[in-house]
Amino acid sequence: MTNQNLGDWKPSEFEEQGINLIKKISEHFENIREVPVSTNILPNDLFSMIDSKLPDHPTNFEEIMNDTWEKIVPNLTHWNHPNFHGYFSTSASAPGILADLLVSSLNVNALVWKAAPAASALEKVILNWIAEMVGYHMDTDGVLLNGASLATFYALTAARDQSTNVDIRTKGLIQSNVNQMRIYTSDQAHSSVEKAAISLGIGTDNVVIVETNDLYQMEISKLEKAVVSDLKEGYIPMAIVATVGTTSTGSVDPIKDISSICEKYNIWLHIDAAYGGFWNLVPEVREVNEDLRLGDSLVVNPHKGLYTPLEVTTLFCKRKGALSNTFRLIPEYLQTVKEDGSIDYMDYSLQLGRCFRALKLWWIIRSFGKEGLSKRLGESIRQARWLEAKVEDHPDFVCVSSSPFALVCLRYVPKSLQKLLQNASDEAERESIHSYIQCLNASLLSHLNKSGKVFVSHSVIKDGYVIRVSVGNIHTTFEDLQQTWILMQEKASEVYDMSPYQELTV
Ligand SMILES: *Cc1c(COP(=O)(O)O)cnc(C)c1O
Repeated sequence: MTNQNLGDWKPSEFEEQGINLIKKISEHFENIREVPVSTNILPNDLFSMIDSKLPDHPTNFEEIMNDTWEKIVPNLTHWNHPNFHGYFSTSASAPGILADLLVSSLNVNALVWKAAPAASALEKVILNWIAEMVGYHMDTDGVLLNGASLATFYALTAARDQSTNVDIRTKGLIQSNVNQMRIYTSDQAHSSVEKAAISLGIGTDNVVIVETNDLYQMEISKLEKAVVSDLKEGYIPMAIVATVGTTSTGSVDPIKDISSICEKYNIWLHIDAAYGGFWNLVPEVREVNEDLRLGDSLVVNPHKGLYTPLEVTTLFCKRKGALSNTFRLIPEYLQTVKEDGSIDYMDYSLQLGRCFRALKLWWIIRSFGKEGLSKRLGESIRQARWLEAKVEDHPDFVCVSSSPFALVCLRYVPKSLQKLLQNASDEAERESIHSYIQCLNASLLSHLNKSGKVFVSHSVIKDGYVIRVSVGNIHTTFEDLQQTWILMQEKASEVYDMSPYQELTV
């Protein structure tokens, strides 16, 4: 006795709908340059368009598709768009997208070896490939995770457990009666460092923020001074977090010097190369980049640099056993007979159920090859350097800081204002011009994004507001970037004409 209406779709229906969907996706990419990069819809309008009551009865799948392409897709910010240059540009490449479909179809849970033999084996293979690509130690501990923020949290948890002889893992921080622990990082570090301190019970007050130099790199002398003074006062320096590719300007901390300090005072070095890591595939960049092998732990993000759909991050840890000492905890129902060479990936983080992330990377890396990946990333670097040169040559724009990676930070400062600044009679006048420039650039960013033709984001650094153009989507061509540069110049004079400095100040 079977009820015809229960169970899943028939395979033939799945095939038909699947083919339709893939056709729609191909059309989307075919016409991607006509798709607005972002939407200007207001939150309440969006809710009133899509909010509806919980459906009691089946909806025809064609209708669901129509709603998706009419109401959802046009009201997204399109990260996988050639003119998306916000935050850090990312790409979902075709082999990665298709792998995601198979990953979901098989729905393998890679918690222990026995539960997913080939997924676990492939994870090991992929970790080695990635270590080789970014220049980390091969055959070391590692794990694929959902994001760099959690990777940094896990690395710092392992660092905490290694930092004293007290068993904090069992006793907890308070019962362990250890002195206050401290984490050191630069004023440019990602917020995930402080978030880790919050979750670990170490507290944001114990994240020592080290100042950076003019190039936004951690100041070594200030770092050492902070460590020495903390040691004198009885704190436990638990970890130093260095960044390769900071979020605001893509700067790189002096890893070698930081590593010497870590060695001298026996402190764990965690390197956050979530953004910067994969640029090592480009020979010219690798030559000037820092050595990632120096990190006790290292995070790199395939979902940023390696054309991989979200969510795939890699955490490595060359201190063998440190991650599993912290996270291994096996209840009876997860006991399995350990076979020679097997790896249980649940031992390396808090996550138990884990999707088959390695397959996406296996398909992507094999489809493009190391050389293909390197050339694509190299192309983004060349595009970014081209834009940088254009900005530098333009009398009304300034290039604010320079990253070895494909990130350009710029500011619109009309020549007349540069002159005014030079001739400003006092600090008050300079202040007023600076704050006008800030507004002008915020307005430029808003007009650019409202156009739907490009998406950029901003940051505020030491000398003020900057527009960040992160180049790196797999679809972006030189022509796309040329169009963006033309649009930027047009919009810039528009916003300036709308509210020139003189009018704003009277
Ligand atoms: C993107 C980024 C992160 C956060 O990564 P998620 O994967 O989004 O958690 C952390 N640090 C740096 C330097 C980043 O660029």
